[in-house]
Amino acid sequence: MCYTQNMQKTPKKQLDYLIIGQGLAGSILSYTLLKMGKKVAIINRFNPKSASYIASGIFSPIAGQRIAKIWQADEIFPQMSTFYKTLEKDLNCSFFHQMPYIKLLINDDLKKFAQRRFDDPKYASFIKRIEHSVKGKKVDAIEIQHTGWMNTNVFLDTYRAFLKTQDAYIEDWFDTDQLVMRENEIHYKNINAHKIIFANGLQATQNPFFDHHRFIPTKGELLTVKMSAPQSAIINGNAFVLPIGDNLFHVGATFARSFENALPTQQGKEWLCTELEKLIDIPYEIINHKAGIRPTTPGHRPIVEWHEQHQNVGIFTGFGAKGVSYIPYCAQQLLSIKI
Ligand SMILES: Cc1cc2nc3c(=O)[nH]c(=O)nc-3n(C[C@H](O)[C@H](O)[C@H](O)COP(=O)(O)OP(=O)(O)OC[C@H]3O[C@@H](n4cnc5c(N)ncnc54)[C@H](O)[C@@H]3O)c2cc1C
Repeated sequence: MCYTQNMQKTPKKQLDYLIIGQGLAGSILSYTLLKMGKKVAIINRFNPKSASYIASGIFSPIAGQRIAKIWQADEIFPQMSTFYKTLEKDLNCSFFHQMPYIKLLINDDLKKFAQRRFDDPKYASFIKRIEHSVKGKKVDAIEIQHTGWMNTNVFLDTYRAFLKTQDAYIEDWFDTDQLVMRENEIHYKNINAHKIIFANGLQATQNPFFDHHRFIPTKGELLTVKMSAPQSAIINGNAFVLPIGDNLFHVGATFARSFENALPTQQGKEWLCTELEKLIDIPYEIINHKAGIRPTTPGHRPIVEWHEQHQNVGIFTGFGAKGVSYIPYCAQQLLSIKI
C-alpha cells in the first residue's frame, strides 16, 4: 500500500450559519443572512419533487372558505413585494409576478363571509367587490389585493447557481449523527459554524433537537394545462386557474390529509378537470400532472425557533401552503430573537 507523504487535511470552512435545506425556507433565510453580512452555507439534497418545486407559488393576504386574512397579513404584505423585487434585482432574474386574484362567491357561505368582510373596515385595503364573467354568466366575486405568484422553480435554480458562485452550496444529504456540538460552535465534517438551522421542510423535525414538533402533512396535486384563454388574473372557484404565460395555466390544488404516497392520482386529476370545466368552456390539453406534500402543522403556524438548551441550533419550517408569504417575514423573526 502506498501513502502520499504530503497528504493534507481539507481546510475547515468557518461559517456564521450552516443551513440545512435549499427549498424556499433555506434559500430565503440564507439570502436574509447574506444581506446582513453573515458567512453562510447550505447543505442540500436537490429534490425536484420537494414542496418548493411543486408549489404554484400563489401569494394572497386572504385565504380559505371564510375569506379571512392569513396569519400576520397586516405585517407581511406591506413589505413582501419590496423584499422579492430586491431579491429579483440581486439575482438579475424575474420570478415574482403580481397579478389580480378573483375569488368567485359560488355558494351561500362564501357570500355570507364576503359580506362580513365588506362590512369590516380592517378588510378595506384587501378586497374589492366585483362581478366576474364565467362561461358568459356574471358571478359575484371579490378581487383580492396584493396578490400574485412566484415562479419557485426559476428562483430556486437561479439562487442555487448564485450560491455555488459564492462557494456556499454543498450538494449532500445532511446526517445528524455526524454533527458535533461544542459550547459556542457546531462541527460537521469540514465545517465549523456558530449556528446551525434546520430548514429542510418535513425532515426538519427528524433530529434529536426538534423531534417533539409534529406535522400534519397535506398532499396537493396540480395540473399544467394549455388553452387559448385570454385570462390575466388568478381565478378561484373550488380550484384556482393561474396563467403562467405562453397559454399555459396551473390548475390546483387538491388538499388531502390522508394519502398513501406522494404520487399524482387519477382521482386528483379528475377532480381538477371537473373544477376547471366549471370555469371554462374551451378545449384544453393537459401538459403535466404533479403532486407534493405541504409541510403543514397542527395549528397552521410555522415552526420558527431556537432550541432551548442548544441555543445555536434553530428550526425554520412548517410553512404549510403559504411558504411564499410567510418565509421572508419569519426569517426576520427568527433572526431577531434574542438568545
Ligand atoms: C401542491 C402544492 C402546492 C403549493 N402551493 C403553494 C402556493 O401556491 N403558495 C405557497 O406559498 N406555498 C405553496 N405550497 C407550499 C410551499 O411549497 C411550502 O410551504 C414551501 O415550499 C416549503 O419550503 P421548505 O423549504 O420548508 O421545504 P422543502 O421545499 O421541502 O425543501 C426542503 C429541502 O431540504 C432538502 N433536505 C431535506 N432533508 C435534508 C437533509 N437531511 N440533507 C440535505 N437536504 C435535505 C430537501 O431535499 C429540499 O431540497 C404548495 C405546496 C404543495 C405541495
